[in-house]
Amino acid sequence: MRQAPEFTLDELTGRARGHLHMEENPHCTLHKEAIAPYLAMRAAAAAAGIDLVAFSGFRDFDRQLGIWNGKFRGERPMQDRLGRPLDALAMPAAERVTAILWWSALPGASRHHWGTDFDVMDASALPPGYKLQVVPAEYRPGGPFERLTAWLDDHMHAFGFFRPYTTDRGGVAPEPWHLSYAPVAVRAQAALTVDGLRTVLSAAAIEGKPEVLAALDRNFTSYVVNVDQAPAMALLSPRLA
Ligand SMILES: [Zn+2]
Repeated sequence: MRQAPEFTLDELTGRARGHLHMEENPHCTLHKEAIAPYLAMRAAAAAAGIDLVAFSGFRDFDRQLGIWNGKFRGERPMQDRLGRPLDALAMPAAERVTAILWWSALPGASRHHWGTDFDVMDASALPPGYKLQVVPAEYRPGGPFERLTAWLDDHMHAFGFFRPYTTDRGGVAPEPWHLSYAPVAVRAQAALTVDGLRTVLSAAAIEGKPEVLAALDRNFTSYVVNVDQAPAMALLSPRLA
């Protein structure tokens, strides 16, 4: 008898929640297997004076679709690769699709759908009244999360985490805040196929659908698969205490 796949297509594309666990304190929804390593890493960071918080974990398909459609329609701000504002409506649809992909995943292709990936910050490093911008400068030397970045560099792999968007590979822009739980994420990445994604997007109310589908093979290669690979250490059994 064939074994059932670990993830259904609905789970891989953010349209089902069977793979998830909702944690109350601190509030976050992550993959069942990622919760304990996340909490263990959070406890270790706390011992170093860092209040490591996942401020964005699981995100469903409809939420990602809302982000996508809002940008495509010019209702949400858009930026070029250097972070300068872009006027979406002044761009031909095919170019708009590419520009959105620098900063936002296609609905169905966000690693946040898997529950293995989340965005982190150090809540103890925020000056009073500070508004989080989620830009690379905040995570570099001189930014409020300089210590968090250095601590993660030294410790995250032992808990199974890595950064899939570290280097500028010409795809998704570098995101020093985005962590991924390697032992499960590599399996989710392998399970998500361009054909599965095409099936989901063909049936979705997505803006720019003809351009999205026409460029899907190329964009799947350039943006979905084109990430930094998990180091071997992150794939070993993670530390849980
Ligand atoms: Zn993220």
